[in-house]
Amino acid sequence: MKAVLSSISPARVLFTRLMRRLGRVPYFGPLSTIYLREVPLPTSPGPGQVRVRNRLCGICGSDLHVVLGEGDLRISLAAIPTTHNPYMGHEIVGEVTEVGPGVTRLKVGDRVVQERGISCLGLGRQPLCRQCAIGNYSLCERPVEELRSQGVGGGWGEEFVMAEGFLFPVPDELTDEQAVLIEPIGSGLRAACRRTPQPGEKVLIIGQGTQGLGTLLSIRALQPDCHVTVLARFPFQADMSRRYGADEVIMLGADLYQEAARLTGGKVYQGMFGNRMLLGGFDVVYDCVGIPSTLKDALRLARAGGTVVLVGVFLELMKIDLTPVWYREVDLIGVLAHGAEDWQGERVGTFELIARLMREGKMKTDGFITHSFTLPEYRQAVATAIQQARTHSIKVVLDYRQ
Ligand SMILES: [Zn+2]
Ligand SMILES: [Zn+2]
Repeated sequence: MKAVLSSISPARVLFTRLMRRLGRVPYFGPLSTIYLREVPLPTSPGPGQVRVRNRLCGICGSDLHVVLGEGDLRISLAAIPTTHNPYMGHEIVGEVTEVGPGVTRLKVGDRVVQERGISCLGLGRQPLCRQCAIGNYSLCERPVEELRSQGVGGGWGEEFVMAEGFLFPVPDELTDEQAVLIEPIGSGLRAACRRTPQPGEKVLIIGQGTQGLGTLLSIRALQPDCHVTVLARFPFQADMSRRYGADEVIMLGADLYQEAARLTGGKVYQGMFGNRMLLGGFDVVYDCVGIPSTLKDALRLARAGGTVVLVGVFLELMKIDLTPVWYREVDLIGVLAHGAEDWQGERVGTFELIARLMREGKMKTDGFITHSFTLPEYRQAVATAIQQARTHSIKVVLDYRQ
């Protein structure tokens, strides 16, 4: 079986960064961090495992961090010894083709998406840690050395073998195109659940890539009665934002502070050296980019006592002004991937809730997938995802269905 693998060995990462500096983005070659290889798949799934043939798999922003060799060794993640998953691709929808002994939840022919990562919940290890016990498998506190790897294969390959606990069964009513978006929308829904806008509140979403659009769709599904402004980088993103229910779109390059003041009834103050601050801003700001400049703006554009939800992933150290956190008592909270949510008095899995909103027609994702490629075209697929200005890509997928 052919599959795309990754390696984050120092030589590959450093060489990829060097190529990036020379303008080779993305870089593919003998020292790139990802490469297509022949991988032997186990002849049959082990106890509790299933074999899955992929149907679609998306390219995630986190995959691109690997492709680009990003990450600082001083950040918290780098302190934790981890079993680096060499198989690329987690935004999967596939079909179960074989079940191992002791499999109880899934049967041959079921469509599945990959849900839980390596966690006691995913592996069915008792007793569950505190976070797995409440459904937050992404926040598993079990020492990683205790946990095994995820199985063999991933989404950027024809097939994989994995424990059934990692997989979420897709309801029949959903198309493959909807199902493949459940995982990428997960963090947006989680963000909208961590701080759900109240009726009449004013919300800003910074960034309209996959995470920003997923957050917009989720907010619209959970709270139709709030006012949503988005900050978009490209005109094609602005078109999608309006289609998905944004009330206002601010383009990157516009005067964000003046626009925010106009939309919230706040007032902009200016100190020395272009230092600006808004008083009376948005009730909630979702930063779906998460780089130092956007997080700085997010904290300054939230009203006193408001909330900033950090959705975007940034793998470098940040030098940033945190004073709004105490000076304006702005709450700064974050989200990681997906798990379980408290929604209308119920504890429900993030994926379950998204599938439900899709089935009920409250979350319409038409147009979200903009490009599809075959596995041998994976380099082109990755380049399409990275070069958004040229390709106008939102979600790029690999399609295995022919
Ligand atoms: Zn992802
Ligand atoms: Zn756990």
